[in-house]
Amino acid sequence: MTDKLLAFDAEHIWHPYSAIGSGLPVFPVVSAQGVRLRLADGRELIDGMASWWCVIHGYNHPRLNQAITDQLGHMAHIMFGGLTHAPAVGLAERLIRLTPEPLQKVFFADSGSVSVEAALKMAIQYWHSRGQGQKQRFLSVRNGYHGDTFGAMSVCDPINGMHSLFNGVLPRQFFVPAPQRPFGQVCNEADLAPLAEILQRHGHEIAAVIIEPVVQGAGGMRFYSADYLVHLRRLCDRHQVLLIFDEIATGFGRTGRLFALEHAAVCPDILCLGKALTGGYLTLAAVLTSTEVSQVIGQGEPGLFMHGPTFMANPLACALANASIDLLLESPWQQRVACIEQGLQQGLAPCCQLAGVREVRVLGAIGVVELEQPVDMRRIQPALVEAGVWVRPFGRLVYLMPPLIMQETDLTFLTQAVCQVLEDYLNAEPGQGYRR
Ligand SMILES: *Cc1c(COP(=O)(O)O)cnc(C)c1O
Repeated sequence: MTDKLLAFDAEHIWHPYSAIGSGLPVFPVVSAQGVRLRLADGRELIDGMASWWCVIHGYNHPRLNQAITDQLGHMAHIMFGGLTHAPAVGLAERLIRLTPEPLQKVFFADSGSVSVEAALKMAIQYWHSRGQGQKQRFLSVRNGYHGDTFGAMSVCDPINGMHSLFNGVLPRQFFVPAPQRPFGQVCNEADLAPLAEILQRHGHEIAAVIIEPVVQGAGGMRFYSADYLVHLRRLCDRHQVLLIFDEIATGFGRTGRLFALEHAAVCPDILCLGKALTGGYLTLAAVLTSTEVSQVIGQGEPGLFMHGPTFMANPLACALANASIDLLLESPWQQRVACIEQGLQQGLAPCCQLAGVREVRVLGAIGVVELEQPVDMRRIQPALVEAGVWVRPFGRLVYLMPPLIMQETDLTFLTQAVCQVLEDYLNAEPGQGYRR
């Protein structure tokens, strides 16, 4: 049975960032519970990925199961054009309450990438409505990741995002180097000068700056000075450019604050949320804006925000998001994230001793081991599974962002497995892996 399934999969189905026929293994999962994935052959893996930042409460959670079951009894979906429902209103209320006070308006989108598209379009429409239709370009920092659709792709890191491949179709945006000052330190002139320069020279054609606050996720898993955001906010104001924060990865506790913007106490004009929004059950994203942004768009030409996904504010997804947020806020999540942070720091520290490891860094419930060379997925992925953990490295990065409910013993197992696999992996690598 499983063999047939795998054979069909290998021949016909694309996985994220994959080639059909690559021969890279995929592992069939039959169920998931808490922090464990159960494979078809009966093995259980401790999940170090929270299914790409989403599953903050663990899998198969009774409260979330109940929320979706209850909502299913009322309605799975209705169109949002001309209709509304309590789950959407309840969710908007929660998001407005939890985010900085100026963010008062909510647009629901069906995925992170689409929320980024909506945010970019809002910024363009805002300036259009203010008679500045030439402000249609965006400024971003290198090593950013904002999604896979065209607009989102145009503001991703040009190298990681393979801009050369889509040369003719991608809008050309402005980029500055990624901030180099690490998290916890004040920002410096070297980081700010390129920003100031581009905004000075091109502010008249830039609609917004878009950035992931504090943590750059899929573009490099980097943590940078929160202070940078304070200066960025000032520069945007000075040059009449909107500020968009992409908290799709960082939102809902991952960095030790409910939202990463809290590290800097900076409020953007537009905020994108996604990923952990529904606790990892269904796809849903949200764009929050200030009253000013929504009013200006509403008063301009055509007087409407030009976006409206078919599955906008899907009631099942909204009901899950409400339950997930309530569950998070009722839980001692700050304590949990602090424990995970400590566990990751201690547990991953031995990796620093391995030749072939460039750096180990931890922030909140995110632990990163950066290697000197890109990992060979063909070797490392099966080794991690063999060790009983689900970890999905990319490029030079082996990283962990477990469900926020992970207990100490499971976390210890996870970090020990990663350290051991990396040691074996690097030892087998010519010229690497010996103890320094
Ligand atoms: C994952 C991610 C996105 C894209 O979200 P999708 O739901 O995959 O479309 C955008 N921005 C950031 C920061 C992300 O981590």
